[in-house]
Amino acid sequence: MEGLVRILTKRALHAQHGLRSTSPIIFPISRSFSNLAQNKPPSFGIAFDIDGVILRGESPIGGSPQALRRLYHDHDSGSLKIPYVFLTNGGGFPEGRRALELSGLLGVNILPSQVLQGHSPFRQLLERFENEFVVAVGKGDPVAVMVAYGFKNVLSIDEYASHFENIDPLAQFKHWTIKKDKQNSSPEQMSPRIDVCSERVQAAFVVSDPVDWSRDIQVLCDILRTGGLPGRELGHQPSLYFASDDLAYQAKFPSERLGMGAFRIALESVYNSIHPNPLEYTSFGKPKPFVFKNAEATLGQLALSSCGNCRGPGAQNVGGHLLKRLYMIGDNPSVDINGARQAGHPWFSILTRTGVFKGNRNHAEFPADLVVDTVEEAVDYILRKEGSL
Ligand SMILES: [Mg+2]
Repeated sequence: MEGLVRILTKRALHAQHGLRSTSPIIFPISRSFSNLAQNKPPSFGIAFDIDGVILRGESPIGGSPQALRRLYHDHDSGSLKIPYVFLTNGGGFPEGRRALELSGLLGVNILPSQVLQGHSPFRQLLERFENEFVVAVGKGDPVAVMVAYGFKNVLSIDEYASHFENIDPLAQFKHWTIKKDKQNSSPEQMSPRIDVCSERVQAAFVVSDPVDWSRDIQVLCDILRTGGLPGRELGHQPSLYFASDDLAYQAKFPSERLGMGAFRIALESVYNSIHPNPLEYTSFGKPKPFVFKNAEATLGQLALSSCGNCRGPGAQNVGGHLLKRLYMIGDNPSVDINGARQAGHPWFSILTRTGVFKGNRNHAEFPADLVVDTVEEAVDYILRKEGSL
């Protein structure tokens, strides 16, 4: 009945917009009606990497909008047929904002809970640092990310550095940076409730790709060597967290760009050259197995909420995250495929040729379960295999 209503609604929408109701639109909806009639819970879920799979820069690639539309009963209303998430090491904005941006770029209704970013696990550190003075590093709005997670005393490294005169000896040559900082500063950044120059930083969070490497390496070394107070004597190293450890990623430029892992290597190398004790840090993001465990749990929750009044064998297991198969579609063998391989059952890895990997066959060190040209091909394969075409 629900499926019938969907067909009628779609027809009504077409009528409203003066469009003819054609078979390519009715056909998939009729099929989803037959699935609904069986009240079958979804038995599989999909995790998509973003950069180099779904988007290059801000442009959709590999037929990604068409591929995603096939995972909905009705993509206008956002009613999911197949549970899926975006599992990216990228970030810089809160999940809600990223979901809105992706919805606009891809033409489907994406929920904040479907966006799992490199920095999403920082939430789990809230208990430890909720009221502590911490510094957030990276492009986008790293303070907004941390504030959205509940951290109360966060400053961006831009704002933090501005309180220490001459901390960056190259600042006078970076007029563009100073100008931009003043324009973009949010209220939280402009009115710190702490005495920045006497309060020790308890932790530094590299939320997204750092913008000004020379300044950030200098200031982070200052913070980390002095127990959190630049310009003072050496002290115990504050905690340091990276949202991911990708050496490179595929952006708009034809060849790969240096990622957060490259920044980590640079910082670590400098720090270890000027400090007696080696740098201590924790990196999150793919290929860490817990990231895939988290994605599995989220897909289970999405399956539960997407199937509504599911009945029959398997329905009770959906909430227990017992989806029978989980697909990871990525372009980076050492991150996406390596991660899915380490996570093991029930993950199945699919490597696309639209990003970092461009080989003819499979990757030698981290071979995927399947190699395809595009994400659209990957989704087509999955839906055929699962009998959901
Ligand atoms: Mg990628």
